[in-house]
Amino acid sequence: MSIQSNLNTIKAGLPENVTLVAVSKTKPVSDLMQAYEAGQRIFGENKIQEMTEKWEQMPKDIQWHMIGHVQSNKVKFMAPFVSLIHGVDSLKLLQEINKQALKNNRTIDCLLQMYIAEEESKFGLDENELNELLTSSAFKELKNIRILGLMGMATFTEDQNQIKKEFTHLKSIFDSIQTLQTENCELNTISMGMSGDYQLAIECGSTMVRIGSSIFGGR
Ligand SMILES: *Cc1c(COP(=O)(O)O)cnc(C)c1O
Repeated sequence: MSIQSNLNTIKAGLPENVTLVAVSKTKPVSDLMQAYEAGQRIFGENKIQEMTEKWEQMPKDIQWHMIGHVQSNKVKFMAPFVSLIHGVDSLKLLQEINKQALKNNRTIDCLLQMYIAEEESKFGLDENELNELLTSSAFKELKNIRILGLMGMATFTEDQNQIKKEFTHLKSIFDSIQTLQTENCELNTISMGMSGDYQLAIECGSTMVRIGSSIFGGR
């Protein structure tokens, strides 16, 4: 199957309110250009250097999403162009993103990554940390970032009930913070679902799916 036909098949099955992020990490620019020529404009990468190199080489109407774990000292490299940062998991990181956004005279959209899996290795906030962050005065001072919602990754398992439980949990957290909207917090996005579980994620309320291998092939 070609990248174009993979994309078309996936897009045909997505509800209108669900945004597709084409996860292109490790893939060459020539593969991304095939997706671009098929109409895809949102690409997800998990390494800042790789994303920056691709941004330099590719058309400028692409929206670049950072879906990986972000180190504070590398935010400056993507601050001029990144469209959405999915993996924000601390106030400290948000403050650095705000600082670099200000330097670039722009506002950077972010999602807060929640820890929903039963795995030691996954990053993210728990519910208490989320509430603490969103209600802190330090957060309200950040004028050059905007929180659009939450991101989460389910446990890597075949157990559909387990995955469903975790996605449903993320949706319920999202619903519970709707009262915390402020000027820099407009909650309208739940980023959950990858190649193996995106249909289930959509059933559970996802509005943004991050799909790599089902579009570009295995890595
Ligand atoms: C790699 C990656 C994806 C895409 O995974 P696939 O299984 O290839 O669709 C989605 N989200 C994150 C955070 C990733 O790192």
